[in-house]
Amino acid sequence: MNYTGTRSPYSVSASLAITQGIADDGGLFVPESFPQLSENDFEGLIGADYRGRAGTILEKYLTDFPQDELRACVDGAYLGTFDNDDPAPLREIDGGTFLLDLWHGPTCAFKDLALQLLPHLLTRAARRTMPGKEIVILVATSGDTGKAALEGFADVPGVRIIVFYPENGVSAIQKLQMTTQRGNNVCVCAIKGNFDDAQTGVKAVFSDPEMAKKAAARGLVFSSANSINFGRLVPQIVYYVSAWCDLVKTGRLKRGEKFNVAVPTGNFGNILAAVYAKKMGLPVGRFICASNRNRILTDFIRTGVYDRNREFYLTTSPSMDILISSNLERMLYHLHDGDGAAVARLMADLRSRGRYEITGEHLKRLQADFWGGFCDDVRAAEAIKRLFSERKMLCDTHTAVAVDVLSQYRKATGDTAPCVIASTASAYKFAPAVLPAVDDGPVPEDGFEIIRKLSQVTGTPIPKPLADLNTRPVLHRDCVEKTAMADFIAGKLFA
Ligand SMILES: *Cc1c(COP(=O)(O)O)cnc(C)c1O
Repeated sequence: MNYTGTRSPYSVSASLAITQGIADDGGLFVPESFPQLSENDFEGLIGADYRGRAGTILEKYLTDFPQDELRACVDGAYLGTFDNDDPAPLREIDGGTFLLDLWHGPTCAFKDLALQLLPHLLTRAARRTMPGKEIVILVATSGDTGKAALEGFADVPGVRIIVFYPENGVSAIQKLQMTTQRGNNVCVCAIKGNFDDAQTGVKAVFSDPEMAKKAAARGLVFSSANSINFGRLVPQIVYYVSAWCDLVKTGRLKRGEKFNVAVPTGNFGNILAAVYAKKMGLPVGRFICASNRNRILTDFIRTGVYDRNREFYLTTSPSMDILISSNLERMLYHLHDGDGAAVARLMADLRSRGRYEITGEHLKRLQADFWGGFCDDVRAAEAIKRLFSERKMLCDTHTAVAVDVLSQYRKATGDTAPCVIASTASAYKFAPAVLPAVDDGPVPEDGFEIIRKLSQVTGTPIPKPLADLNTRPVLHRDCVEKTAMADFIAGKLFA
């Protein structure tokens, strides 16, 4: 099976789609069709462990990868790298509501599920499609992608990685996680700007022919570890399928019964993976798209108007402080039945006027599948507090947004179908906002005191990867203007 582009037709192998990351017209790669899961497949998946499930799903999408190679990639990604045999365990809130805990990996956020696997896929794909080249991964991060990518790609032979993050747009822990990263192929740089600026800067480098030429002259090729890379999306499909398998296996869901999925959403990658799982035959009812105060997706789902000409807010869920949701482009492509010209027009509108609109049948289709809602920091804190006082369960600020929006959804629609909430980060990553939600006492000044107190108050352990962060040396101190990203990259690579 091959991959085409969201703006103009291509037909490239999975390996090429992953190595290149983004199509050269600026569009994203999408599968030409969706592989289907048969009754037999589902039977097998239910009986398998996480790695078995991942192998089955990857095989269906990455058809030019030899099967034994895929199994090796999956083992490399998930064997011994998560603090649990199951990288994506469910926690039951009540009989019909479940947290899918995706933060047991090395960086304590769900990005690990994809970014522990991507380096294995990418290095093997590159060997096939661009032998002899060195890959340069460019990453724009709202906090969690950067660290997860660094952790995945550090010291991987044949790859270098450069990460840009917004100087004031990530949590203190997220920043420390990145600036203390070890590895002789890694580079981390802050920018004076927000996540959208970082993402725009990185995308500009990808579509700059001059940069590509200079890189090629040195045997380098640019690629992406952001969720615009299909290699990031496909591992995310796995955990939705796996959650369903676990619910069925434990009798909490009947075979034909539908369940909903609630996802705290920023770049639209995580929720899109759930859509892809449904397109393969997983019985998902509704996708509940949860936003923080940056409610651009809520407005889009409710009105069909996507308008980034609005105030940008910094919230306690910084990984969702985003006004340009890259993966929405893939959703638009599917809503328009593969009409790339229509998608290209919408994206041109976004570039020139900062807005686009979908109407009629397209909007109806979007609303049939999606429900959009948002909540502010106060409501998110209340959700954390409620979950802890009523169930003794701890969740982070992003997950809390989805918990709140799910209850709004149930109230608004009366739909009480079982629901899986993507629990996207450890509460410890966002302890300064989580602690005051679960404890009335004073919040310590020092970031690590906050973490220790959160552990004391809640009786939950500090995740190992965060425990010794404050003792590691800061290795990366660069900070550049948002307009100077290309120069920074050129300085690192071409000097
Ligand atoms: C990245 C991230 C999100 C948003 O996910 P998208 O795929 O960008 O929609 C939500 N929560 C956390 C903790 C994240 O790191």
